[in-house]
Amino acid sequence: MFDLTTSDIKYITGVGPHKAAVLNKELNIFSLYDLIYYFPYRYVDRSHIFSISEIDGDMPYIQIQGHFMGMEIMGEGRKTRMVAHFTDGTGIIDLIWFSGLKYLTNRYKLNEEYIVFGKPTVFNGHVNIVHPDIDRVSEAQLTVVGLRPQYHTTEKMKKSFLTSHVVEKMMAVVFAGIKTPLTETLSPALISKYQLMSLTDALRNAHFPENSEKLRQAQYRLKFEELFYIQLNIIRYVKNRKSKFCGYVFSRVGKIFNTFYKDNLPFELTNAQKRVMKEIRKDMGSGRQMNRLLQGDVGSGKTLVALLSMLIALDNGYQTCLMAPTEILANQHFETITKLLSGMNVHVELLTGSVRGKKRAEILDALIRGEVNILIGTHAIIENPVSFLNLGLAVIDEQHRFGVAQRSRLWKKNEQPPHVLVMTATPIPRTLAMTFYGDLDISVIDELPPGRKPITTIHQYDNRQSGLYDFIRKQIHQGRQVYFVYPLIEESEKSDLKNLENGYQTICNSFPEFRVCKVHGKMKSAEKDKQMQLFTSGQAQIMVATTVIEVGVNVPNASVMIIEDANRFGLSQLHQLRGRVGRGADQSYCVLVTGYELSEETRKRIDIMVRTNDGFEIAEADLKLRGPGDLEGTQQSGIAFDLKIANITRDGQLLSFVRDIAQKIVDDDPNENRPEYEILWRQLSVLRKSNLNWSAIS
Ligand code: ADP
Ligand code: MG
Repeated sequence: MFDLTTSDIKYITGVGPHKAAVLNKELNIFSLYDLIYYFPYRYVDRSHIFSISEIDGDMPYIQIQGHFMGMEIMGEGRKTRMVAHFTDGTGIIDLIWFSGLKYLTNRYKLNEEYIVFGKPTVFNGHVNIVHPDIDRVSEAQLTVVGLRPQYHTTEKMKKSFLTSHVVEKMMAVVFAGIKTPLTETLSPALISKYQLMSLTDALRNAHFPENSEKLRQAQYRLKFEELFYIQLNIIRYVKNRKSKFCGYVFSRVGKIFNTFYKDNLPFELTNAQKRVMKEIRKDMGSGRQMNRLLQGDVGSGKTLVALLSMLIALDNGYQTCLMAPTEILANQHFETITKLLSGMNVHVELLTGSVRGKKRAEILDALIRGEVNILIGTHAIIENPVSFLNLGLAVIDEQHRFGVAQRSRLWKKNEQPPHVLVMTATPIPRTLAMTFYGDLDISVIDELPPGRKPITTIHQYDNRQSGLYDFIRKQIHQGRQVYFVYPLIEESEKSDLKNLENGYQTICNSFPEFRVCKVHGKMKSAEKDKQMQLFTSGQAQIMVATTVIEVGVNVPNASVMIIEDANRFGLSQLHQLRGRVGRGADQSYCVLVTGYELSEETRKRIDIMVRTNDGFEIAEADLKLRGPGDLEGTQQSGIAFDLKIANITRDGQLLSFVRDIAQKIVDDDPNENRPEYEILWRQLSVLRKSNLNWSAIS
């Protein structure tokens, strides 16, 4: 039998080790199975063949049929190109290539009929097609009729001639090799009850649809299956966890909590904070293990909720920890919390990568002896040599930086898993939460502390600098502080850092009367701390930074944020950044600086930012604009899966539908041994083994 999972793509005719390596690296495609689960992102109707005389430069993708009259290399240096003259008897069109010329020479014959597909454009008064797809008419039957797939390709793939068309040809070779049906992955009962297409037909039609109705059925079947197994996995996992572990019971609210509440709490809790505290107390007192996601917009006061929850754990004789994604943030939490707890007999320690040597050893020692009550730190906390005596509650801040895998490592710190509270300012739309955090309960702080003025957001083109600088000067003279934020993206790290340095110089030169500090992720952490300190203490009026300040940094006196190259940030990142201002009583401003030329999508992003401060609205818009496939931080976010075919925004209904089906199956077959479900349990275990993300969940 034809084994998809074990056959390597490099053995597909025409692929070879180089192309295979590119596919491995760029798309994580290794086996034939990986390949055929790489689905087209759209289909182009290729049922119609145009005549060349009909074509103009305004048409979308079209195809023509004819033969070559000749080919020539034109131009020099970077303008070198291959031009082929192609005719169908009604006219002549030029086909143009700017790369891969060597590969093209002698590839096409003059006396052979071809089908040419591409987007016509007008150049120098001539209609031509740049980098067309070309098939020999005699070989084109399988795929040329009707709907044809288009695959996403990356820059690196294109450089290795792995265009959509080449991917399509690889698919065609694989499907030609599938002579007998593949092993079915859904049970016959499900297939007949929900009238699903068979696996083999569905896969084939998802790539090479016989017609649009078949395509619809194919996609339905594959989406159904994808979402179904995700739900089956989560529901089953939640059930097992509930039966295996009972949570620590935090039955009382005692002296520590009450003392803090009475004597140290600097303000009245907002109603939303009170409500959320009730939910958390109930959870931690219930005897089941808490797994709660706390969503609240930036500045909504999540830290306080975390602290109050931790105090309840202390009152019940347990240790707790608070983890932050960056050292800066961990430091800040440490300072805030030590200050809030001043005068109380609570032992708080800070553990980050820069705490080393003797100090570190002391902390670790005190921790295992149970002398440290609250440990605050970065990921370093969950690394192996760190042991608690009795960790009762772990709080994870800004969890979009924290993977599910890390979350699960926490549970191994104890015989029994501690209660877990995950805090995030990135609101996760309900459908997503249901899919990926099916095991988390959700609390929402939907109210900001009183007295905050909404931030005014302005979009400004980068040639209007002097007006902007006048405004900044005025603000600083009124006693405010200012952030300048620059993008720093890994792929373009060098030029980004240079940009930041240039910006820093310009700002220093433009504001000689003020002190300017600078923070970025590539700095040593001692230097970072020193620079941060300059700003928090008010000695520096301006901070130039990268997104290291995105998460949680709290300087209430900073009321102006300038985001340079704002077009290069995603929506939720912009929102996070903006949240660094508007924390005090003063009117705050966020200025998004861009060049004139903006894509339509970028314009939409900027418009949304200017229009609203509402994080939930922004998250929904983000999801719609980007599609969940590349939802910001899918990788950093701990969201466990890359969906191959389903789409969370569009397939929300199907998701709820299959969730109910999965729930019934888990209820119906709790021991997972009924024969009618055997296929499903087996397939689930295959998926869990073959996909790292899946196994990270449990
Ligand atoms: P985030 O939810 O973004 O983590 P923080 O916990 O950092 O927000 O809180 C933002 C600011 O609001 C802090 O300065 C905090 O002291 C203040 N704050 C929190 N809760 C209240 C409240 N109930 N009333 C007034 N200010 C509050
Ligand atoms: Mg915070």
